[in-house]
Amino acid sequence: MQKQTVLITGANKGIGYETARQLGKQGYFVFLGARDERKGNEAVRSLREEGIEAAYIRIDAADAATIASAAEEIAAQTSSLDVLINNAGIGAGGNVPSQQTIEEIRSVYEVNVFGPIQIIQAMLPLLKKAPLGRIVNVSSGLGSLTFNSDPTHEHYGANPLDYNSSKTALNAVTVLFAKEFAGTSLKINAVDPGYTATDLNNNSGTRTVEHSAGTVARLALIGEDGPSGGFFDENGAIPW
Ligand code: NAP
Repeated sequence: MQKQTVLITGANKGIGYETARQLGKQGYFVFLGARDERKGNEAVRSLREEGIEAAYIRIDAADAATIASAAEEIAAQTSSLDVLINNAGIGAGGNVPSQQTIEEIRSVYEVNVFGPIQIIQAMLPLLKKAPLGRIVNVSSGLGSLTFNSDPTHEHYGANPLDYNSSKTALNAVTVLFAKEFAGTSLKINAVDPGYTATDLNNNSGTRTVEHSAGTVARLALIGEDGPSGGFFDENGAIPW
């Protein structure tokens, strides 16, 4: 396989699907990750109708066995992976931390934190074989401790412990992997796509998926002189 390759998790819809579409249009071969086979194949069909080369990869961020088999499936189809986008994410329970159950919180961490860690570890052998490997973790401004502790910030009122703290943890994961690979060509960053109309928020978001996927795709496409270990939104770097 000659083309550059990207794996995007949770890519059957929302920001993930649109990011797959935009990178596909840029000439990437898309490994379209989805936990549901029917939805994944449907999304692959839609991309192919637009002339994009794509293959469905079953990957459930909360299921280690699917992560291992996804890595094997991709390795059978390509010798290297240029980009990994950890996009799959779930949220948010109630807004009152004292009332959230630990089961709720654990299940969000499985998808938003433990999944991405395992997916990065499983894909690293292929990412290291790419000349300029890139990992983009789709985080959220709701994970910024700076925004969470600023009463004047627009995100201050959004206080779900499960979602917000899972994205804070994902940011930490980003920094630590970036440190491990500092000085190599592999770059890893976190991105806040911005409040976007998707199923995650019953389409109440104020941005389009086209706009927000553009923010994600830009970080996937950074060059040799691009950043690593940072947190970015549509306007540039944002505080942890
Ligand atoms: P979405 O439309 O609900 O899409 C979420 C995707 O994640 C779906 O494909 C979903 O698959 C998948 N997913 C859920 N659990 C999964 C699992 N266990 N394994 C694999 N895939 C799983 O939401 P979205 O807004 O596009 O969200 C994409 C990312 O952006 C998330 O990480 C989210 O936290 C982040 N984000 C979104 C906003 C926003 O305003 N929308 C803002 C900031 C950050 P199914 O169809 O099978 O459920």
